[in-house]
Amino acid sequence: MRWSQSLIPTMKETPEGAEIPSHVLMLRAGLVSQVMAGAYTYLPLGLRSLRKAERIVREEMDAAGAVELLMSALTPITLWEQTGRVQAFGDVLIQFAVKRQNRKVQMALGPTHEEVVTELVSRFVSSYRQMPITLYQVQTKFRNEERPRFGVLRTSEFLMKDAYSFDTSIESLNHSYEKMYAAYCRIFDRCGLQYLPVEAESGPIGGDASHEFMIPAANGEDAVLHCASCGYAANQEKAEIGCRDTALPGVPAVPLEKVATPGVSTIEQVSKFLGCQPQQMIKTLIYLADGKPLAVLLRGDHDANEGKVRRAAGAAKLELADQATIERVTGAPVGFAGPVGMKEKIAILADRDVQGMVNGVTGANAADTHLIGVNLTRDFQPDRFADLRNAVDGDACPRCSATLALRHAIEVGHVFKLGTKYSEALNARFLDQNEQLKPIIMGCYGIGINRIVAGLIETTHDENGIIWPVSLAPYEVFLAPVKVTDPASQQATDALYAGLTAAGIEVLLDDRDVRAGVKFKDADLVGIPLRVVIGERGLKEGKLEIKWRWDKAAEFIALDGAVETLAQLIRQERADGKRFRNTVVKK
Ligand SMILES: [Zn+2]
Repeated sequence: MRWSQSLIPTMKETPEGAEIPSHVLMLRAGLVSQVMAGAYTYLPLGLRSLRKAERIVREEMDAAGAVELLMSALTPITLWEQTGRVQAFGDVLIQFAVKRQNRKVQMALGPTHEEVVTELVSRFVSSYRQMPITLYQVQTKFRNEERPRFGVLRTSEFLMKDAYSFDTSIESLNHSYEKMYAAYCRIFDRCGLQYLPVEAESGPIGGDASHEFMIPAANGEDAVLHCASCGYAANQEKAEIGCRDTALPGVPAVPLEKVATPGVSTIEQVSKFLGCQPQQMIKTLIYLADGKPLAVLLRGDHDANEGKVRRAAGAAKLELADQATIERVTGAPVGFAGPVGMKEKIAILADRDVQGMVNGVTGANAADTHLIGVNLTRDFQPDRFADLRNAVDGDACPRCSATLALRHAIEVGHVFKLGTKYSEALNARFLDQNEQLKPIIMGCYGIGINRIVAGLIETTHDENGIIWPVSLAPYEVFLAPVKVTDPASQQATDALYAGLTAAGIEVLLDDRDVRAGVKFKDADLVGIPLRVVIGERGLKEGKLEIKWRWDKAAEFIALDGAVETLAQLIRQERADGKRFRNTVVKK
């Protein structure tokens, strides 16, 4: 491709509204252009990288035995009603009515395709002999984003690979899941991504039933807890907290005392007003666990993890109590709840860290009043202690004695054992060997294709621009003739371009009549892996300057046989990606 014939609108300045490197660089390198908040056009260079990511995903899905199909993006709303996901998705589901003759048809743009694929399978798969089978597609998904941001990382329209496995037993599901997990590792390796598979909330199957593939990145919106010592990794929703001796500080207990805190109710306000630290406060949250009020005690600087609270309470459903319930059980307005002297006797669960607190501060179950000098056993006694909070940086690893580190990350993939939720709702059943009718056991597996591209850029760039691995680069070789008008240079450039193209190498020829400095800056910005400079002096000496985007120094190769030398370098890097990995990917 000749630069002058493509559409590559590079920019010098950081575009307005772009906050993170991948967003800035995708705009500056002319990969994408925003159509509206949450929707982008992929320009020629961006589309080439997106297609390469897509191809890698397809190749590995096929190699893992998954079968490709293509489902419609338009879906009838009735399908989503059958699984209760109209409510579950809420405003995220983009739905609308269209007129067909004299009636209105309500439809939704698919945010994912469990419903469509399960309904499909229910029609064509009815015997254990037809399984296991894994179906996948690469398709545009639609999810209304309340706050589209971070460029293509969070949009309302995005390209996704979604796969669905159908099995007759949990053992068989586990096997399908492992195949997808292994394929994901190969995909992200081939894409040159530094990724971390982390445990995620497992849903109905329980156990080790869900993993997210995360790219650690400073600007990532997901939080991951990682133990460098044993490798344990989980997202914040799932991360367990190991036990650590909570030796009581050697502080004597002081008497319980009521203090007036007029109009002061949040942890922040109270700690400021009373001059204490948030970690000295006992946060009291009132929940409804299966409709029954439940008090949850946490250290003031900790956040409740509702999944953990729900499991500890043995409840199917957990929600924060409404104002009326809080006032009824505490006898005080919202904001003044505490474990001492609640009006109604309700179950109290306390986080394990509350055990180590001495002379705590908490609401007094009376308006504008708090208690200080609150001590366990003497003043209150929870029914049980449990791990109820989100893990934070520095917590103990649940698997070994080391410490968890909190890392921000971008989620690029998710594998999930679904069980029979959708097959039961949509009546996808099969006859087993004994002619028994059973629901099909499912798994689902997603990869955000746009996120592969943006995630790579987010972690692999420098101050000058993008650094692509050959596997995802829009072009593999960047040809930069210093003087396009010089006949000798023109001849050498044309020969290289024709030779490399004939050899199957993807070449971007910068044929613009601009200063060499401008070409070099753009070459670095768009990040093509191998830059070849055709300069006057080199030509006279029979040499070409070549430089890998990630190397500091350039080197020279002989002009004679240059096509074969360059083609060989690219073929080698295509095959193993070693140069990129050894230089760019930090482990
Ligand atoms: Zn560990």
